[in-house]
Formats: sequence, structure tokens, C-alpha cells
Amino acid sequence: MTTDPALYPTERLTRVQEAVRKAGIDVLLLTPGPDLRYVTGYDAKQLERLTCLAVPADDDPFLVVPGLELKAAQASPAGQLNVDMIPWGELTDPFAIIAGKVGRPELVALSDRMWALHVLQFAKALPAAGLRLASEVVSPLRMRKTPAEVAALRAAGEAIDRVHANVPTWLRAGQTERQVGVKIAEAIFAEGHISADFVIVGSGPNAASPHHEVSDRVIRDGDVVVVDIGGTMPSGYCSDCTRTYAVGGAPDDFAAYYEVLKRAQEAATVSVRPGVTAESVDQAARGIIDGAGYGEWFIHRTGHGIGLETHEEPYIVEGNATRLENGMAFSIEPGIYPGPHGARIEDIVVCTETGVQRLNNGPRELVIV
Ligand code: ZN
Ligand code: ZN
Ligand code: ZN
Repeated sequence: MTTDPALYPTERLTRVQEAVRKAGIDVLLLTPGPDLRYVTGYDAKQLERLTCLAVPADDDPFLVVPGLELKAAQASPAGQLNVDMIPWGELTDPFAIIAGKVGRPELVALSDRMWALHVLQFAKALPAAGLRLASEVVSPLRMRKTPAEVAALRAAGEAIDRVHANVPTWLRAGQTERQVGVKIAEAIFAEGHISADFVIVGSGPNAASPHHEVSDRVIRDGDVVVVDIGGTMPSGYCSDCTRTYAVGGAPDDFAAYYEVLKRAQEAATVSVRPGVTAESVDQAARGIIDGAGYGEWFIHRTGHGIGLETHEEPYIVEGNATRLENGMAFSIEPGIYPGPHGARIEDIVVCTETGVQRLNNGPRELVIV
């Protein structure tokens, strides 16, 4: 699988090091996960054996890697970086190697997703160091997508749109949510993802549980079904899209609030442009749903950033005064969940210089199957 070299530019490490210095952090320590991949392109396995990129504020970055992972590390885009790779054998203490090289740091930033197994070892190996989260340094960079990243998210969006386009052929009365979910998961792979990260098929009352996955409930005529699906592309970038379907026809009390939801999702989307705050986009959706009397059933934030993780900054939520900038990508996914049924409409959008671009473009009308 080839990845666009522009996705993981080699100069990114320099920019991350500048951010480390600016934040007053002595060394950034990244174990396998989205931050390490973002900085180096290396999609390393998270293992009990320590793999760790150290980015000191004022010294050369280096990668400590288990001996048996060295070839994989060299073959990854990290092999193109000017980074010393230090393999360690089964009987060595990799934390001592890092401690020996970084001196006595006062402030260390650790991957948000670092295992406690490793956090506690670092705390022991660097006893004088205050611990911070790597996201302090890396999130502001990850939040602003480059054109190559936006292209990768667009490809992910197109792939998941193709899956949704086929959902009506699988969603049938008499099938269980799980049976439909299996077909969807296969299609997520068939359309180009390398993993199916989540498949939500919420039918009937399950449509009112936003993070329901699948169950053995048999889908019936008259059911509303919320289908929220996503996966990861070979590029590392993720898809996430929700559409609401009705089997045979929708319940009487459903059409009114679905129209409100559609208006709210549209209003939030067109409110996106550089300079507006994340919370104002939430308010654009919430104001309409509140105004129509369904506010108490909109029980989650309007959206989340997306990139190498399905959920990342910026969060589109009350209290987040972050001002949107060109290149920020996030979901707009208001929902209304009164109980016997519910609905959500979700698109990934990107803030552009002049406004907004949708990365999901399937119909937002209620699809009757
Ligand atoms: Zn969610
Ligand atoms: Zn989402
Ligand atoms: Zn979703």
C-alpha cells in the first residue's frame, strides 16, 4: 500500500520540536498511536515492549525501538527521517536508555494514549519530571489539516458514502441488526478501508440510544433505523457518517422532528467559516432544536474533530471557544432521541478559506427502504 508522501512530510518533526520548545516542555515522549503516526508516519504496534520517539526541546530526536521491530520501523516513513533509531534487546531497560539520554528533564509530555504500564515506568525513570499530555503540543498542529490530509479525509468520506448508498439493499424487515451490521462491515472493507471501526445499526427503540452498536433485535416494518458507520483508510485517516432510514414507512410522530433535525444539521453546517467559534456551530444546531421544543432530546454535543482518530479536537460543544480555521475537519451530527425512536444526521465537514465543504454527500432526506 502506498501512502501519499505529502501526508507525512519529513519537516513535520521540526515543527513539532518547535512546538515542544515553545510550550516550555523539555522532552516529548510518544509511544505508538495517532500522535506518533502524525509526527513520523510510523504506524507502530502498541505493545508491552516499549517503542518511543523522544523529541527533546534542544537536542536531536531519537526513536527507541524493540530489536525485533527495528526493520519495521526502518521500512516505515520514519526511516526517511533523520532520526537515530536505538534498538533494545530483551534484557535491556528501554526506560533507562531514554533517561540516560535526556538528562534531568523538569517537564515531560507523554502520549495521551500511552499505557499506564509505560507511564508509571517513565515516572520512575524520570523522578524529577512533571508530567503533561502530548496533546498540549500536538493537538494544535493535528487540528489544522494540510491539503493532503483533507484529500485523505475526502477519500474516506467518499468510501463511507458508497457504503451508505448500499445500505437500503441490506436493511430489510426480518433481518436482525447484527445481520445488517455484518453486511455493512464487509462493505466498509470492500470500499477501501483497512478496518471497520464501528457499525451502529439502531432500530426501533435502539435508534434512541446514540452509541448503540448492533443487537439481535429483528428489524420490523415501521422501524426507524439509525446507521452510524466508520472505518480507517490505508492513509490512517478515518470516516464517520450517519444516515437515518425508515423501513416500510416512518411512524406518525417522526416526520415532524426529522424535518427539524435536517434544518438544524444544515444550519450548523452553513454556519462554518473561519473565525466562528466551535461552540457557535453547536448553538446553530441546538437553537433550532430547542426552538422546536425537542431540546431535551438532543443529548450530546454537535460534533467532534476527525483525522487520524475518529474523535479528536476540535470538539463542537458549548464552552469550546476555539475559533475555526481553514483546514479544521469535524463532524456535524445533531440528533433527536425521544424514546420509541430517534434520528441523527452526520456529515464530516472541513472549514475552508471561504466557508465550508462537506466530505459526505449522500442524501440527507429520510430514506424509506
Ligand atoms: Zn459518537
Ligand atoms: Zn461522529
Ligand atoms: Zn458517527
